Amino acid sequence: MRLSALKTGEKGIIVKVLGHGSFRKRIVEMGFIKGKKVEVLLNAPLKDPIKYRVMGYDISLRRQEAELIEVVSEKEALRIKDDIPQNIGNEPLVENILEKKALSQRRTINVALVGNPNAGKTSLFNMATGTHERVGNYSGVTVDAKEGYFVFQGYKFKLVDLPGTYSLSAYSPEELYVRRYIVEETPDVVINVVDASNIERNLYLTTQLIDMNTRMIVALNMYDELEAGGNNLDYVTLSQLLGIPMIPTISKKNWGIDNLFHVIINLYEGSDYFNKDGKIHPEILEYLQEWHKTEVGDKDHHPQIEDYVHQDDKKGREINRVFRHIHINHGPLLEDAINAVKELIPVDDPIRTTYSTRFLAIKLLERDNEIEKVAANLENAKNVFETRDKLAEEIKETIKEDSESAIINAKYGFIEGALKETYTDNHLDNRKSTKLIDSVVTHKLWGFPLFFLILFLMFQLTFTLGQYPMGWIEGLFNLLNDWVKSIMADGPLKSLLTDGIIGGVGAVIVFLPNILILYICISFLEDSGYMARAAFIMDKIMHKMGLHGKSFIPLIMGFGCNVPAIMATRTIESHKSRLITILINPLMSCSARLPVYLVLIGAFFPNHSGVILFSLYIIGILLATLMARLFSKFLIKGKDTPFVMELPPYRLPTLKVTLRHSWEKGKQYLKKMGGVILVASIVIWALGYFPHHDNYENMAKQQEHSYLGMIGKTIEPAIKPLGFDWKLGIGLLSGLGAKELVVSSLSVIYADGDESVELGSRIPITPLIALTYLLFVLIYFPCLATLAAIKKETGGWKYAIFTAIYTTVLAWIVSFVFFQIGSLLI
Ligand code: GDP
Ligand code: MG
Repeated sequence: MRLSALKTGEKGIIVKVLGHGSFRKRIVEMGFIKGKKVEVLLNAPLKDPIKYRVMGYDISLRRQEAELIEVVSEKEALRIKDDIPQNIGNEPLVENILEKKALSQRRTINVALVGNPNAGKTSLFNMATGTHERVGNYSGVTVDAKEGYFVFQGYKFKLVDLPGTYSLSAYSPEELYVRRYIVEETPDVVINVVDASNIERNLYLTTQLIDMNTRMIVALNMYDELEAGGNNLDYVTLSQLLGIPMIPTISKKNWGIDNLFHVIINLYEGSDYFNKDGKIHPEILEYLQEWHKTEVGDKDHHPQIEDYVHQDDKKGREINRVFRHIHINHGPLLEDAINAVKELIPVDDPIRTTYSTRFLAIKLLERDNEIEKVAANLENAKNVFETRDKLAEEIKETIKEDSESAIINAKYGFIEGALKETYTDNHLDNRKSTKLIDSVVTHKLWGFPLFFLILFLMFQLTFTLGQYPMGWIEGLFNLLNDWVKSIMADGPLKSLLTDGIIGGVGAVIVFLPNILILYICISFLEDSGYMARAAFIMDKIMHKMGLHGKSFIPLIMGFGCNVPAIMATRTIESHKSRLITILINPLMSCSARLPVYLVLIGAFFPNHSGVILFSLYIIGILLATLMARLFSKFLIKGKDTPFVMELPPYRLPTLKVTLRHSWEKGKQYLKKMGGVILVASIVIWALGYFPHHDNYENMAKQQEHSYLGMIGKTIEPAIKPLGFDWKLGIGLLSGLGAKELVVSSLSVIYADGDESVELGSRIPITPLIALTYLLFVLIYFPCLATLAAIKKETGGWKYAIFTAIYTTVLAWIVSFVFFQIGSLLI
């Protein structure tokens, strides 16, 4: 619980002090040290301040300050004692339990991951917590903060993966989110994940974290790339310069992460007790040593306070001692202004509990909206703002630069200085290859054909390579079918098993290899960094559609599955672009539609399979473009915001990661198989089998008079102009649930005849109708899961229903035109 919640006369033991560095320092100096007993002398509700006794002194704290001190109360300890009734009244035991409880509570460390997009935060998170969050080589994959827990060295860690940000201004929602998280959730330690191969730009965020005075450690991630580039970084010196422990890591390979958490423990246990020279107050040292000896004992022994070092190497030893709070020097002019504003913040204003005053002053000079709102509550707000304005004006006059950019430039100057001393650029830059590839890939002329070539190859690969395993699976299912047929007597049960379940599920499962290949390709393009380039070259076109380059990635993801793609639109800041991206996403042909394509293309156009498959995707894209333009012109109002599109260096994704991503998708596909598709196959079979199964001389007649036939006949008039009969109509109806079901139901409906003939060849239609059917399947009605995703992301059914209607109408119109014109030409 928090100290502020203790009532008059109650006692507690201090667990930890939260909040920013200078606040913690002040509180610790008053004697609020971990493991110390504190007694409430007077805590009247509504009364501020509260009086406490700690280390023999009487001290008053503001309520807001007491809220940032975590304690274990006697009551909490006594509750434990109640569990052991025979010990009631045993006073020393109560004390003992109390202290044990304080100790165990102290052993929970809250850690937040902060860093630029693509620095490897999620990889680090996954390695440390053992989970499998999605990583991707482009900005903005992490949208929410994700929490994970793990135990290390006897400490329980709560790790939070925050969205990637380049800075901590109030410019984007992510930046604001991260800043608020640090201020409001007060993590014990912040891990600033830095891309060491891109250190200069990454350190900018670090300098802002330093302003905030957070207790932090830097993970110099991608250290492999720094070294591969032939460059050198004296990170020990850099750590000392910045007063932050810096630990090289390669989070992709789980290298250096143990080290990182060792140092975090040391930082957490010791940092508040050191002064600027890295020395510790002798009295506090004595007390802490005693506390550790008696409470930690030898079990899970953690280093002695005077030697907060876990690693054996000398480097580790030095790094452990570097933590101190430094001030980024912004140059005399700015520093004077910062100090002048800082001085104006009243000494006893509660704002100091939440923010470091230096941070406030810097942000005010940057004209940060959020901080201006906070500062407006100061009693002398008017004075503060006037002074700020006057100083900013002076700065502008003197250096011809507004104070905000002056502060940014000063920070970069600081970084450059620090790196000059510690970083050796051997000009073996690994980015050379990145630049070289980029000059081709993002070329004005070659960029587009190359992009389409890559897409084309991807679909060609999906088709040709997928055919082999597809044949094997098909063979297996045929064997199974024959076997079941041979051992069972004729009747509904046999028909259910063979025509219904094995036929329906089998027809869809054979496409698992194709879908896996498609996912492997998409995964590879994402993780390698190419997808970001594709987005980059598409930016101009996207703008013409009323979209962002950033919309492009969700659109491509739609080729896999529209559901995650729609969720990925959260990274798009502009409301308008985001909404349009969501609405047109179902036109991106998802992998569930692939089985339908493969069945019909395989049967009707075996010699042009790649081209037709590719054209279908392209038609989807073109229609999406058209709809986006229409929507942005007539439907959704709003203006575009400019943005920076980040181009991460190319990376060869590891086979393991790519395969794991693809397999996870494959697993979802298989699960669907076992659930929805199994049930739907049975239902479709039953509708086709009943009523009066045995009354007809052949299967065709029987089906026509079945329930399925009746439903199909009812909708037939609506689809007749497209060339579809009721059987094809049944396929479309079942596809409303999930597009794979089109194939399942076709396979059940056309089960009549020789089973060893491929499904496509069993469907007696003309190639023109087949093509029209493909078009319709491509465009019509997003599946139910997609509609649910749209509802969730847009906050209501309105847009979900709209999407269902517009896609179906569009499908009908396109198919109608295509079929009618086609019929005239042939
Ligand atoms: P986030 O945006 O900060 O969450 O970054 P991610 O964890 O998604 O990682 C971005 C990309 O960098 C992924 O492709 C990772 O596989 C890759 N990556 C992460 N850590 C390392 C590393 O230490 N070295 C190298 N070479 N690549 C890494
Ligand atoms: Mg991430």
